[in-house]
Amino acid sequence: MINRSLKQIAEMVSAANDISPFADVMIKGVTIDSRKIAAGNLFVPFKGENADGHKYVEEAIHKGAAAALWQKDVPNPPADLPILVVDDCLVALQELARKYRKQLPVKVVGITGSNGKTTTKDMTAGLLSIQYKVQKTEGNYNNHIGLPLTVLGLSEDTEIAVLEMGMSGRGEIEFLTKLACPDAVVITNIGESHLLDLGSREGIAEAKLEILEGLQNGGLAVLNGDEPLLMERIQQIKGNVRVQTFGRNKTNHIYPTEITQIKQGNSFKINRSEVVFELPVLGTHNILNALASMEIAQYFSIPYEKINAGLAGIKLTNMRMELVEGRRGEKIINDAYNASPTSVMAAIELVANIQGYGRKILVLGDMLELGPQEEQYHLQIGEGLDANKIDYLFTFGTLGKAIAKGASKVLGEHRVFAYTNKEELIQKLEQYVDKATLVLVKASRGMKLEEIVMVLQNK
Ligand code: ATP
Ligand code: MG
Repeated sequence: MINRSLKQIAEMVSAANDISPFADVMIKGVTIDSRKIAAGNLFVPFKGENADGHKYVEEAIHKGAAAALWQKDVPNPPADLPILVVDDCLVALQELARKYRKQLPVKVVGITGSNGKTTTKDMTAGLLSIQYKVQKTEGNYNNHIGLPLTVLGLSEDTEIAVLEMGMSGRGEIEFLTKLACPDAVVITNIGESHLLDLGSREGIAEAKLEILEGLQNGGLAVLNGDEPLLMERIQQIKGNVRVQTFGRNKTNHIYPTEITQIKQGNSFKINRSEVVFELPVLGTHNILNALASMEIAQYFSIPYEKINAGLAGIKLTNMRMELVEGRRGEKIINDAYNASPTSVMAAIELVANIQGYGRKILVLGDMLELGPQEEQYHLQIGEGLDANKIDYLFTFGTLGKAIAKGASKVLGEHRVFAYTNKEELIQKLEQYVDKATLVLVKASRGMKLEEIVMVLQNK
């Protein structure tokens, strides 16, 4: 984490006040949460609409914070305490991170895309750790606050930082990438999340491609080559950028061959190597995430022969394709973390192709924030089901009904159940599960479908 004198920090944030009495105080790390102060921290208060972090500045310093920022339009800054007066605390936090990044010798990998950012970030960090001292974004700290905090958490001796970059509108990725100045970037894919804000898939592609604007000269861009919207723009990529593509298509620089299901995951080969890779996480879409990570690992000179050691240690964050067992012995894929049409289709494909189950059930809920065509997207998910590979569909929520409507055409109405009440859904579902059953549970975060998983597990 950042370790600088208050004098240095004051310069970095362009503090307006005289801090000379405290100039030599050492700052170790930055926090925005007064409840999580560690000794030596710089506390950054935010003035929100409801709460004002400035109220906690004194308390933070009593708890061990070495200093705090103070936004100049907030009256009555405490006297005799080590505070730095700035125009805007958020801007100061970002500025501090930008300057700190410039001072570090660290190499940075930036990861964006509609789906699979966190997964690819975790995989990439896992692979790079084989050979380097690596730090990565914790959890999903991928926005205009989380990314600066992640940067400020980097140690001086960290060799590679793997940073997730998220967005909900235009300009956000540009801001993050220009702050982090990555040496290599990944765009995992273009989906439909944030369609509401960005208007079209083209708009989403443009927003993701902003990541190239902060890429260092001579840097590497790893792009999903199955996505026409990305490939169309490859020619227009300016400057000295090396592009490598990954995907299922054989036109990509790297693509998987010989995919075989193994316990809790897949093994696969790639076009470029004879090594058989073993990926202990479910879903062929995760093979694609792994390919992107392998491209990054190659860039940092990690040979394919060493990759398996990194893949073996990969563990994904909760509720992302988590395989758990229900109390009737059924297997449940808990993917309740999030959902968009791309990720729902990827999960359905996994269930459709997985072997060894007597009955396969989908429990799907609303996919939120899809804009005016939301109903159409839901309908298409239902219509796209394969009646030979999926036995029953349960839907939850208002939009879920559209999935059910589409599915009734292919599965027949007797295999489709639509609910807007979770208890009723669970009651019916429980009549259909036994130890030979596989259940996929997936919806947008707001639908809280993990509650269904918990009941099936009786927790
Ligand atoms: P967020 O925008 O919430 O940060 P994210 O991009 O970080 O999401 P992950 O958390 O890695 O994505 O994965 C979320 C869900 O997306 C997973 O549970 C999985 O269902 C799906 N997913 C992951 N990778 C892919 C992929 N390459 N293609 C399609 N769906 C994917
Ligand atoms: Mg994420």
